[in-house]
Amino acid sequence: MSELTVGILGGGQLGSLLCIASKKLNLNTVVYSDDKDAPAQIYANEFILGDYKDKTRIQAFIGKVDVVTYEFENIPFETLDLINQFKEVKPKPTVNKIVQHRLYEKDFINKCNISTTRYVSIKKKSDLNANIKLIPGLLKTCRLGYDGKGQYKLNDSSDLENLKIDFSQEYILEKMINLKKEFSIILTRFGHSIHSVYEPIENEHENQILKYSKIPADIDLKILSKAQDWASIIADDLDYIGTICVEFFVDKNDNLYVNEIAPRVHNSGHLTINAYNISQFENHIRAICGLEKIKLKKLYNAKMINLIGDQIVSYQGKKFSSNEFFFDYGKKDIKPNRKMGHLTIIQKN
Ligand code: ADP
Ligand code: MG
Repeated sequence: MSELTVGILGGGQLGSLLCIASKKLNLNTVVYSDDKDAPAQIYANEFILGDYKDKTRIQAFIGKVDVVTYEFENIPFETLDLINQFKEVKPKPTVNKIVQHRLYEKDFINKCNISTTRYVSIKKKSDLNANIKLIPGLLKTCRLGYDGKGQYKLNDSSDLENLKIDFSQEYILEKMINLKKEFSIILTRFGHSIHSVYEPIENEHENQILKYSKIPADIDLKILSKAQDWASIIADDLDYIGTICVEFFVDKNDNLYVNEIAPRVHNSGHLTINAYNISQFENHIRAICGLEKIKLKKLYNAKMINLIGDQIVSYQGKKFSSNEFFFDYGKKDIKPNRKMGHLTIIQKN
């Protein structure tokens, strides 16, 4: 038994991969999730089923762990704040408070003098009519969206007429960017100006869901280097500890924008498991547990394919070559648009 126990809020594929990385480092894990079928429970030393607002269950969780992290950003801030009074939450809860709200997130990025698309807060129907200049655009819920959920495409002003929107929630309207490329920068911050930065990862989405990731990115090096600087500024400004992902857009005129920040390990970084000496997951655990930072070494070029919905079926039981790595997340039910697994293909020279 190791001395340190890592508490992980959330029990999906990212939680599973964090447990696997912890085990490699000889650390124990306790996973907390509100899903009784959470896939991470089979990789964790212990699993606690509970609502994220259930203070009694959360207290039981606190009693079992030394440090706490999370696999998704939509854990209630109050819960993270409560935990943090007893055991340190990393990255710290205030990071989450900013990032789990699309408007606060974009305000923060702009405050760092970093570009985003133009955006405006939308609280009622008339706010939309007053901001026709941001259409074509995307209307997104400020909270709880992921994989394109909670997003409405507005192509022209006539789309406003047919739109049925529940204004008990807050929205952000973002001007649509004429995309040339999307990519992400993943880095792990261990402390002030101490970053392990992975090579930029080029991403391709289908129906607003990540489908393919690859390194190297086929993007102008000057743009990539500027993005790496921006990601480091963001991580420093947030006083971040752990692995963070910053998603970027490049438009047809080669302008660079930050799309969003994920305060956690990220789907586009799955290829770091096979392409690097230290994966984004291991680095996250190292940083939050105060373990040694090991110099990153890229081993291979690689690409990753997300297996969404029933795409997983034809891969289960398939034979793979030595440069292919298949991960089945072990989710109980196949649902359309659900990330079920992924395949990483490394390019051996
Ligand atoms: P999620 O939280 O669901 O990942 P994102 O804001 O990252 O939400 O949107 C998902 C995808 O939708 C992006 O990766 C991109 O392909 C597309 N998208 C989102 N916002 C814009 C925008 N303002 N302009 C163009 N494409 C966008
Ligand atoms: Mg995104």
